[in-house]
Amino acid sequence: MKRQSYLITALLLSFISLNATQFTKVYICKSPTSYSYHKGYCEGLKRCTHNIDSVTVQEAKTMGKDHPCGYCYR
Ligand SMILES: [Zn+2]
Repeated sequence: MKRQSYLITALLLSFISLNATQFTKVYICKSPTSYSYHKGYCEGLKRCTHNIDSVTVQEAKTMGKDHPCGYCYR
């Protein structure tokens, strides 16, 4: 019984962390030629000449910015 409850807890935790990724705030450059999202104010984002917006990963993906930035997510 103890082992079973451990498994359920582990499953639950992985489910929560999976969801958390979807709601993590990221930064996007609102340039039409930008296809990535950023974890923070990195080298790539500094080059942005358009407005910078803070959105969730989910929102960034629906905007077509579905690539994690090479500087932030290496
Ligand atoms: Zn970046």
